[in-house]
Amino acid sequence: MTTYLFPPAATPSIPVRGMAAHFPVQRLFFVGRNYHAHAIEMGRPVDKAASKLFYFTKAPQTLVLSGATVPYPPGTSNYQFEMELVLAIGAPGFRVTEAQAAEMIYGYACGLDMTRRDLQLTAREQGRPWDLGKDVEQSSVVSEIVPNPAVLRSGTLALAVNGQTKQKADLSQLIWSIPEILADLSQFYHLQPGDLVFTGTPEGVGAVLPGDRIEGSIDGVGSIALTIAEPR
Ligand code: MN
Repeated sequence: MTTYLFPPAATPSIPVRGMAAHFPVQRLFFVGRNYHAHAIEMGRPVDKAASKLFYFTKAPQTLVLSGATVPYPPGTSNYQFEMELVLAIGAPGFRVTEAQAAEMIYGYACGLDMTRRDLQLTAREQGRPWDLGKDVEQSSVVSEIVPNPAVLRSGTLALAVNGQTKQKADLSQLIWSIPEILADLSQFYHLQPGDLVFTGTPEGVGAVLPGDRIEGSIDGVGSIALTIAEPR
């Protein structure tokens, strides 16, 4: 048996609705620019016929559960919310077809892809990696997972800050559908149970400040909340 110099960190995990067992988290994948109006607000419109899906990842240690209060992170003056549908993978898949992809779905959660927008955009302009902008401590927020093997193709997704609606869209507006995402992502990764895919955010992203409370929801999935505290 392996002994350790210090206690290894616990496996990040997410509660599952109606079950005692948690969903143990492996990797966190994020789809970039998957709603047209958000792509336009970011200054990079998407022509699906001429472009490919792209992704970034965050460390699983950035995971935080809905209901948390997190400090405003260091190194930014433009910390932004992105409300997203999160897909929880329950079966392995590599180079799958879109039809096979549907069999990999364990369920769904609401997610927030919190972002240091100023650092992300600086990195983008300079052709540098996005890690400082995206791989932020406590920035991958998820609600409980709802088991559901269906392919979600519609449903309202909404986010409010301090009770004021900021984002409202429908899952039918995803540029790349869930089967298209899994068929593409599995060309590059041997996807495994425990992997999560944040499927992209619609338009209306914006900044938060200490004291703000973010509340989001997706029809048929659930709701999510996050409170921003003073930096520490
Ligand atoms: Mn995002």
